[in-house]
Amino acid sequence: MMKVHHLNCACLKPVGGKLFPSVLPEHIVCHCLLIETAHNLVLVDSGLGVRDNQNPKRLGFMSSLLGVTPAPQLTAIEQVKRLGYSPSDVTDLVMTHLDFDHAGGIDDFLGVRVHVSAAEYQACFGSTELRLRQRYKTVRFDHDVKWQIYEESSDWMGFKSAQPQALPKELVCVKLPGHTPGHFGVALETRDGWMLHAGDAYYDRRELERKSMPVGLSLFQKVAHYDYATAMKTQERLRLLENVRVFCAHDPQEMP
Ligand SMILES: [Zn+2]
Repeated sequence: MMKVHHLNCACLKPVGGKLFPSVLPEHIVCHCLLIETAHNLVLVDSGLGVRDNQNPKRLGFMSSLLGVTPAPQLTAIEQVKRLGYSPSDVTDLVMTHLDFDHAGGIDDFLGVRVHVSAAEYQACFGSTELRLRQRYKTVRFDHDVKWQIYEESSDWMGFKSAQPQALPKELVCVKLPGHTPGHFGVALETRDGWMLHAGDAYYDRRELERKSMPVGLSLFQKVAHYDYATAMKTQERLRLLENVRVFCAHDPQEMP
C-alpha cells in the first residue's frame, strides 16, 4: 500500500490579499503529494522549483500578480530531503498541468519521468496560440525531460482517464478539462478509499460547496481558466462525486 505525504511547495501571497482579505485570499498554497510506493517516490505536482525561488521574475507577470514569495525551504526537493529521502528516490512526477506554479520540480528532479496528458503537452509545446505560448514557462524544460504522454482511454467514475505506465494501479490520471487544454486530476486509492487531487479545477473549497467566495478570486478564475465554460462543467461533475475525498492545489484550508 502507498503512503501519501501532503506537501505545500510554494508561498503565494496574491497582490491585494493583505489589504482586502474579503476580496482575495491573503495566502495560497501549492498542495502537492509525495507518494511512497514499495520501490520509489512519486510526486504529484511540484510547486515552485529552486531556481524559481532564486529568481521569481523568470516566471513572468503572473508570478507578480500571484505574489510569489521566495521560500526555498518549501521546494519539493528540500522537503524530500527533510523527510529523510534522497532526491534520487523520486523517479516520477505526475503533473495535473504545466502552469508555472505546478511544474517547478521538473527543473529540480533531473532524469525523472514526467507524466502529462497529450493535450497538455501539445498546448505547451505545439500551439501557435499566443495565449498558450505566453502561459507556459518552458524555460524550465530546456533539459532532456523524459515526457510520458497519455491519451485518456479508460474510465474512472464516469470521467475519462489514463493509467500511467510503470506506476501503481492505485494511481489514475483523470481528465478534468477547462483550466488548461489538457488538465488532469490525479486519483489515488488508499486504505481509506479514493482521494482526488483536482489540480486547479477549482481554487477554493467554497466554490465546490456553492458558498460565496472572495470576489477577486472569482474574477481571477475568469482569466486563469483557459476555457471557463468547460471548467464550470467540470466543477459540476466534481460536485456529483460520491465517496471521494476531493481537494485542489491552492486552498490552504484543504491542507491536512
Ligand atoms: Zn495553479
